[in-house]
Amino acid sequence: MTIQAKNYIAGEWVAASDASLDINPSNTQDVVGEFARGSVGDAQRAIDAAAAAFPSWSRSSIQLRHDILKKAGDEIIARKEELGRLLSQEEGKTLPEGIGEAMRAGQIFQFFAGECLRLSGEKLASVRPGVEVEITREPMGVVGLITPWNFPIAIPAWKIAPALAYGNCVVFKPADLVPASAHALSEIIAKAGVPAGVFNLVMGRGSVVGETMLTSPQIAAISFTGSVATGRKVAQSCIGSDPMKKMQLEMGGKNPLVVLDDADLKVAVECAVNGAFFSTGQRCTASSRLIVTDGIHDRFVEAMTERMQGLVVDDALKPGTQIGPVVDQSQLDQDLSYIRLGQDEGATLVQGGERLTRDHPGFYLSPALFTNVDNQMRIAREEIFGPVATITRAKTYEEALAIANDTPFGLSSGICTTSLKHAGHFKRNSEAGMVMVNLPTAGVDYHVPFGGRKGSSYGPREQGRYAQEFYTTVKTAYTHDGN
Ligand code: NAD
Repeated sequence: MTIQAKNYIAGEWVAASDASLDINPSNTQDVVGEFARGSVGDAQRAIDAAAAAFPSWSRSSIQLRHDILKKAGDEIIARKEELGRLLSQEEGKTLPEGIGEAMRAGQIFQFFAGECLRLSGEKLASVRPGVEVEITREPMGVVGLITPWNFPIAIPAWKIAPALAYGNCVVFKPADLVPASAHALSEIIAKAGVPAGVFNLVMGRGSVVGETMLTSPQIAAISFTGSVATGRKVAQSCIGSDPMKKMQLEMGGKNPLVVLDDADLKVAVECAVNGAFFSTGQRCTASSRLIVTDGIHDRFVEAMTERMQGLVVDDALKPGTQIGPVVDQSQLDQDLSYIRLGQDEGATLVQGGERLTRDHPGFYLSPALFTNVDNQMRIAREEIFGPVATITRAKTYEEALAIANDTPFGLSSGICTTSLKHAGHFKRNSEAGMVMVNLPTAGVDYHVPFGGRKGSSYGPREQGRYAQEFYTTVKTAYTHDGN
C-alpha cells in the first residue's frame, strides 16, 4: 500500500478522493508513488485561497519575497541529487540530465529572488505643466500555471518563481504524468515560508483541475506550456471567460538545425545528436529537422549513424545511460507510428527506430534517423516529440534557410558553420524566437528570454527580466502638485 501524496491548498496538505499512480518509464513494475488527483472542488478551494491571500501578498515587502525565493532556491540546489533522481525515475531522462534540471530550477528561484529587489518604474515629465507621470508595475492577481511532463521541475520553477516574485498568488497544476517532482518542489516552497494561500498545488487531470482554472473569473492570467492542441483550448477559454484572461502559451516545436558544407563535422554531429536525441528527444527545442547541404551531406549521414550506434539507451538511473526511455506507452505508440509513417511517405530509415528490451520492462526506443526527407512530408512538419530526426538535403545556404523557415513552428533554430557571413545572415533571417550558432537548438540560459514565434508561442516571453511582461500589469499615474 502506498500513501497518497496530497495537494497543497490554503497552507495545508489536503487528501483527494481520487488518486493516480506514478509509474517509472524505465521499469513499469516500479511505482514512484500514489498522488492526489484533485476535483473541481479542490481546484476551487485553491483558487479561493489564492484570491484571499492576494491583497496581503501583493503588498508584502520585497525583502520577504526575496528571502522566501532565495531559501527555496538554496534548498533545491542543496538537494539537487535527490530531486534529480526522483525526476529521472518518474520522467525517464538520465540521472545527469535530471540533476542538471533540478539545479536549473534552483538557479531560477535564486535569480527571481534577486529580481524582487530590482522591480523598477519610470518617472517622466508630463506634456502638461505642473503634472508628473509615474509608470509602475503591479501584480496581475491570481495566476494559474499549467505545465507539461517533459521538464517536471524546471518549467514549474520558471513560472512559479516570477509569479511569486512580482506579488501574484499561484494555483499550480502539473502534468498528470509527473506529480512527484511537482510535489517535492511544492514541499520546498511551503517550507520556505510562503504564507497560506499564496502558493497552491492541485495535481489532477487537465479536463478537471485545468478546466476549473480556465473558467474561473478569479484567475487573472494563465501561463501554459504544452501541446498546440491544448494551447488552443486554453486560449479559447481565456478569451471566452469574463473578464478575459491574460495568457502566455508555450507550445510545440519542429526546430531546424542547418549544417553547411563549411561546418566542423565533429561539432555538427555533436550538436545534432545532443539536440535531436538527448532527453529522449522529448524537448520542445529538440533539433528534429536536420537540413544539410550537398557537399557535407554524405559525410554527415555516415558520421551521425556511427555516433548513434554507440549511444547507450537504458534505464535512466543506470550509470552510463545516455538516452533514457520514452515517457509512457502512448508517447511510444506515437513515436512508432510516425516512424512507420516516415517509411510509408518514402523517407529512408537509416538508423534506429526499434523497440528495445532491457533488464526491466520499459518504453525503450533506439534513436531514429531518416534521410531523403522532403520538407513537405508529415514527419518533417508535425511535432513527434520523441527520439526521431529527419535529414533534408539542400543545394545552397539560401535553400537551407528557406527550408528551415518553412514550418508552422518557430521556437528554436540552429546553424553549424565556420562562416561568419552565413552565421550572421542566419541569426537575422531565421524565423525563430531563439537562434543558435554551432550549438544544439536545445539548451538555454535561465537569465534571458525564452519563447518562440508562429505556432510555437503566444503572448509575452518567459524567463529573465522579460518575465515581468506577463506577471505584472503597468499603471500610469498622473499627479498635479499644485505648482
Ligand atoms: P499537453 O498539452 O497534453 O498538457 C499540458 C498540460 O495541460 C498538462 O498539465 C495537462 O494536464 C493540461 N491540460 C490538458 N488538457 C487541458 C484542458 N482541457 N484544460 C486545461 N489544462 C489541460 O502537453 P504535454 O503532453 O504534457 O507536453 C508535451 C508538449 O509540450 C509538446 O507539444 C511540447 O513541445 C510542449 N512543450 C513546449 C515547451 C515550450 O516552452 N514551448 C516546453 C516544453 C514542452
